[in-house]
Amino acid sequence: MAVKCKRCGKEINHDGEYCIDCSRKGMQEIFQKYPDVKQAFKESIEEMKKPENMKKMVDNTVRFMDAVQGLQKGK
Ligand SMILES: [Zn+2]
Repeated sequence: MAVKCKRCGKEINHDGEYCIDCSRKGMQEIFQKYPDVKQAFKESIEEMKKPENMKKMVDNTVRFMDAVQGLQKGK
């Protein structure tokens, strides 16, 4: 079954609501809105930059976006 990104409609092959591009864009927007979140994720971001962590980065980004969605719903 094909899942489509809720933002751009591109097919995604991982769990989550957004493709990796939209997740990353969303992440940056969130960091601008919530500097505290950026601080909390700073370590993970450094980890994610390593090429060997590419798969991990996808997972983390998707998980992060899900967490942020929950955060925004709670407001
Ligand atoms: Zn997308």
